[in-house]
Amino acid sequence: RPGRFDRQIVVDAPDQNGREAILKVHAKGKPLDTEIDFAVLAKRTPGFTGADLANMLNEAALLAARRNHSRISQADLEEALDRTIAGPQRKSRIIDEKEREVIAYHEAGHAVVGELLEHADPVHKVTILPRGMSLGSTWQLPEADKYLVSKDELVDDITALLGGRVAEETVYGRLWTGAVGDLERVTRIARAMVCEYGMSERLGTLALGRRSHNPFLGRDYHDERNYSEDVAKHIDEEVRKIVDHCHQRATEILTQHRDKLDAVVAALLEHETLTREEFLAVLDGKSLPPPEKPRETPKDGAGADASEQPRSKPNIAPPRFEPA
Ligand code: ZN
Repeated sequence: RPGRFDRQIVVDAPDQNGREAILKVHAKGKPLDTEIDFAVLAKRTPGFTGADLANMLNEAALLAARRNHSRISQADLEEALDRTIAGPQRKSRIIDEKEREVIAYHEAGHAVVGELLEHADPVHKVTILPRGMSLGSTWQLPEADKYLVSKDELVDDITALLGGRVAEETVYGRLWTGAVGDLERVTRIARAMVCEYGMSERLGTLALGRRSHNPFLGRDYHDERNYSEDVAKHIDEEVRKIVDHCHQRATEILTQHRDKLDAVVAALLEHETLTREEFLAVLDGKSLPPPEKPRETPKDGAGADASEQPRSKPNIAPPRFEPA
């Protein structure tokens, strides 16, 4: 389907409530101190999968045994957590406060621009949870499957994709490397508009360049050029014009709605992940309840009952996954 370039299946890392519930499930049957604060552990483990959390509890049990504790203490858990983080987590998952804020502005930029544009898909979820190679992500889902995409929609897609980078420019006047994936996609969409969809007034309705589908070279490995040097220059200029126009729109939106951008960032820093409902509430100027929901913790430690299932469910083939 044109205009949607990245379809992939992604399994979500659980959010804070999800991690707390998972910890409680895995803690069942283990000899734990009564003082264990699962909420704190959940807060400290962004980006952990269920398997990571289970490993951490096992590591804590080993530590407790080594220290001749009869029960696993909070200190054992924290130590196990530090070890788990220093291992596989270090490369991509440890993020300092400043980086976390930059990531939040980047993702909030995508989300606010995307939501305020008429033709972009509604924002489904925004998160600053790192996952795999990406530091955060903004998901936009169409209300229904689309088979035809209009020029207006493509222009709005590009504008929303630029929203992350533009937020960095607007807020800090500085740039970070996180937008590289966005910029590649922006260029691909703009080039396709000019060369494949005939959406440039100047170049008209020509299909410029033929796609090569040599299976041994991978998809679209190279374009076969069937146009002159002169036309190539015009294509570059037209692509540049589209991107500049979208960049200008994204800048106007974020400058005009800076209060919304700041509010979404504050909510992301506190909650890590915003559902569509939460995101819309923040855009409306409402404040969200604090992340820790009130819950009963029975003395026998059986806190994880059926009502505390992880909130995050695996997302199957979202139309757009926006890394970093
Ligand atoms: Zn981005």
